[in-house]
Parts: sequence; structure tokens; C-alpha cells
Amino acid sequence: MGLLLKGGEVLDPGAGLAGRLDVRVRDGLVTEVAAGLAADGDAVLDVGGALVVPGLIDLHAHCFIGASDFGPRTDDVARATGVTTWVDGGSTGAGTFEGMREWVLSRSRVRMYAFLNISAIGLMYLKIGELNHLAYADVDAAIGAGRDHADLIVGIKVRNQLEVVGDAGVEPLRRAVRAADAIGGRVMIHCTNPPVPMAELLALLRPGDIVSHFLHGRGHGILDDAGQVRREVRQARERGVLFDVAHGRMHVKFPIARAALGQGFYPDTISSDLTLGGAAGCVKDLPTTMAKFLNLGMPLAEVVRAVTATPAKALGRAGRLGTLAPGAVADVAVFRLESGAFEFEDAHGERMTAPRRFAPELTLRAGEVWWRRSGA
Ligand SMILES: [Zn+2]
Repeated sequence: MGLLLKGGEVLDPGAGLAGRLDVRVRDGLVTEVAAGLAADGDAVLDVGGALVVPGLIDLHAHCFIGASDFGPRTDDVARATGVTTWVDGGSTGAGTFEGMREWVLSRSRVRMYAFLNISAIGLMYLKIGELNHLAYADVDAAIGAGRDHADLIVGIKVRNQLEVVGDAGVEPLRRAVRAADAIGGRVMIHCTNPPVPMAELLALLRPGDIVSHFLHGRGHGILDDAGQVRREVRQARERGVLFDVAHGRMHVKFPIARAALGQGFYPDTISSDLTLGGAAGCVKDLPTTMAKFLNLGMPLAEVVRAVTATPAKALGRAGRLGTLAPGAVADVAVFRLESGAFEFEDAHGERMTAPRRFAPELTLRAGEVWWRRSGA
């Protein structure tokens, strides 16, 4: 029959589920969440004392090993870190997307979506920015690819970094917005060391668009000279712009994160921006990124919401992904919330020793055990 996850601490802020509850899974779907469920023919998995959450959604990571400068092997990483939905953050553009679809997206067990890079060449070779030639920001080509691959492409990515856009300023962003408008998708912007102040970038964004790397520490940022979150940043959030961590090798600075969290400005979504380099370096993986925010003072339920319900909504899949509500696909992540003295590092080499971390224990993908920590 199915599976019964027994004795765990369920936490699904999107569905309002919290507490010691059992989760029944049959035919790939969650069928029941309640206290004290009987086995009723199902195989029982004892997850006593562990944290049971919806399978994680990494809203901004990378893939396409060997063809972009980026990209760990998605399934190997995903299943051992509780990630059941992986969103590529613009590794490919109109000229390269089909290869990523063929070789990665369609062959991965982890569910995948993608933001299409407004640059037709995507992130093939980072030493030369993908927008150094503005002609690569080909709106018609992006619209065509977006329509051809509407089942996977959820929006348009653009890197607004001075070294990438050069003299083009916000023109690539304007083109990204035009393409996203045409395909009915969101814009995801990279805002590290932007060519203009944040307010000017934000003014071009529409409700639902996503600001990745908002806690970066290079150039114009979210804080004013007094260290306060800028008024325009709060106003952008009020009109529905999302602020996404997208940690990466270069995009989180602990002092900025502390300031933002201290002023109650939590990330809407916590994503890893995982690359091969980041996996080997300060990012490590999504659960490590989540632990940083938990240790910096973000409440546990908000951390979980930022990797489940909110990114599901950003993908247009609210209530279907990122939830354990009966009827949802049974993507489930189980962690031990460990206590001790653990070391974390930001993207600027600052280290912190902190008491909590998420140790992955079990991952279900569509109701099947996809990975289990050996010995668990
Ligand atoms: Zn990225």
C-alpha cells in the first residue's frame, strides 16, 4: 500500500499544519495528516522527533554541468538535501535552453523549472559577461523560447551587475520585463553591484517579480547610509515584489542579513543559487542556507515557508507544491534539527558559530523513498 510517516513534528506553514502529526502517503499523494494514525496496511517509517516538512523548493539554483560554467548534478544533490523542486536561475537563454531541457530538465527525478536568461547565450562562460554584447538580449528569441517551453519556463532572468551590463545600464532589465510580459512570466533579477541604485531597479519591477541576492554586499544595496532598509525596498515588497536570498558564492553578507532581519525584513524565499563552486565552498546546500537564517533569528516556521509555500506561489503552483495538505504530491523532506556548535560562512569570508542546523534524514519524491540517510 502506501507509507505512513509516524511520530514526526510536522511543519507546513502554508497549510497551517504544525505539531506531532502522522503523514499518510498513497499513490504518490498525501492522503491524510493527523495525530495517531493507524498503519492500516501501510509501511510505517518511524520519524519520531524529526522535523517533517514539504519537499523543499530551491527557487534559484543552477544545473547543466559541462555546458554552463555552473551546475552540480541535480539529482545527486537534491535527494540528499530534501530538495524536490529545483528551479534553474537562468543558466541558459534562447540559444541554449533546448540542450538543458534535453540533457538535464527532462532527465532529472527532481522536478525542475527554469528562468530563461534574457541573454540568448545564458551563462556559458562567465569571464565574459553574457550581456557584454547587448544584442544577446534578444527579446523576440526569449519570447519564442518562453512559448515553446511554457511547461518549464516560469520567467526571465537578467543579471544587473555592472561588470555584466557595462554601459547598457538597465536596458537589459527593460528587455527582460518586455519578454516576461509577453509570456506571462515573472522577472528574476540579479542585483549584486548593480549599475544604478536599487530604487531605480525596483521601479521597473512588477508585482510578483523576484529580486535575487538582495543581501549582497557589493555596491548599491537595500540599506541606506544609516543601515536602515530603504523605503523603496519596503514599498516594493508592499506592492508584491519578492526578495530572494540566492546565496551563491558572492551574494550574502552576514552584517547586511543581520541588519535586515533585525528590522523585521525577512527573505520571502531562501534559495541556494547553488553552483559547483558554491557547493564546494560557503553555500554547501539549501539546508545549510536555511540554517544560516534560522541562526540569524528568522523563526523556524518562516524559514520553512520561505522554501515551501512562498516559492510554490512564485512558481504559480500554490497548494500543489510546497505543501503537505491532503491531495498534494507527496514530496516530503525530513530533517533532524540538530543542536551543537556549527560553523557557517557568508560570501565575504565572515564565519559564525551557531547552535542549530538541519541534518537531512529522508526525502520522498512523489510518495517514494528517494533517499534516506544511511543508518537512519
Ligand atoms: Zn544564480
